[in-house]
Amino acid sequence: MRTATVTIYPNALAHNLSQVKKLAPTSKVLAMVKANAYGHGVAAVLPALQQADGIGVASFTEAFEARQLGWEKSIGLVEGVFSANEWQQAIDYDCSCVIHHQPQLDWALTHVPSPDSATRSVWLKYNTGMNRLGFDYQQTITAAKQLHQAGFQVILTTHFANADDREHPLNALQIQRFDEMLTLLKSTVNEDIQGSLCNSAGLVNFPDYQYDWVRPGIMLYGSSPIIDKSASELELQPAMEFSARIMALSTVHTGEAIGYGSRWIADKPTKTALVSIGYGDGYPRVINDEAHVCVLVKSKTEDSEQNHQSEQDYESYLCPIRGRVAMDMIVIDVSSVPDDITLDSKVVLWGDSPHVDDVASQAGTIGYELLCRLSARPARIQTL
Ligand SMILES: *Cc1c(COP(=O)(O)O)cnc(C)c1O
Repeated sequence: MRTATVTIYPNALAHNLSQVKKLAPTSKVLAMVKANAYGHGVAAVLPALQQADGIGVASFTEAFEARQLGWEKSIGLVEGVFSANEWQQAIDYDCSCVIHHQPQLDWALTHVPSPDSATRSVWLKYNTGMNRLGFDYQQTITAAKQLHQAGFQVILTTHFANADDREHPLNALQIQRFDEMLTLLKSTVNEDIQGSLCNSAGLVNFPDYQYDWVRPGIMLYGSSPIIDKSASELELQPAMEFSARIMALSTVHTGEAIGYGSRWIADKPTKTALVSIGYGDGYPRVINDEAHVCVLVKSKTEDSEQNHQSEQDYESYLCPIRGRVAMDMIVIDVSSVPDDITLDSKVVLWGDSPHVDDVASQAGTIGYELLCRLSARPARIQTL
């Protein structure tokens, strides 16, 4: 059987959520599970996120899926609804919506949900400098007043443009604009108006500005949200392992080239292994020559009593990729691996090592993208 596999570790997710709570002990947590939980699968992650106060999704389809799976707590629609019809559906499924432009505000004000509905809570988006979604200064004040008068509970929200880079000057400006607006709304509209500013990078870089709700995404999945610290420095654990197995072994002679475009040429006889993974599974085709995978080989044990093979009984070897990544396979250089490498030896594309953040930088992108764009082909396994 072809063995490209995505394994999800719920314990790692729960650990990362506890790291979020250490950074923002008095805030509620809206755990972001948009884009199929950053590629991890909504069904695979929800059980590990029971300690979150709500989940954030980008589309109504995702909200519907979470309700089907039995998620009863809050669901925040981070782009809001796309039509009056969807506003009605949001009420039916008890979703709490972002309101970022006039039509959404009109749908809300003309169809006010009943007092016990979760949809009575709305996230009013203020544009503090990202310049994608949100109302400007005056519109935000007007909208907050109208929503409050119609019986809505308002959570003022905004989104950082550069929180991954602590020193970027826009951060201080966005924080200042947000903080001033929240203070103004509390004093002129209603003191119960809440605030929500931080994504993962904000959680790590701006601990003094956590407000009522935080909205972590990438750090829950064990990737670093900031540019100057790795996931392990932040004590985050990868929630996904992407792996495959060796499907053939061979030796390439000096002067021979490997793969499409004959891009890599052996300068000495080279032991190679074919691994059944490629861009058809979601491994990036555009990867530089630094890219490595990790091969696990059963270690020889002198102790014959020991018949239980655990992960500790494996030695791991970092092996470089040779030639182009193809749709279904890659070739790796296993010269450094001892002779007891076998067909079926496990190959880790990302997980503990290499970390997805390393692979992403070798592919000129970010961990978020690699995680989200896994294809449907790999088998999906969930550990307990
Ligand atoms: C995706 C998203 C987040 C989470 O961002 P991360 O960088 O993954 O932590 C937070 N807030 C909003 C509005 C989002 O769309």
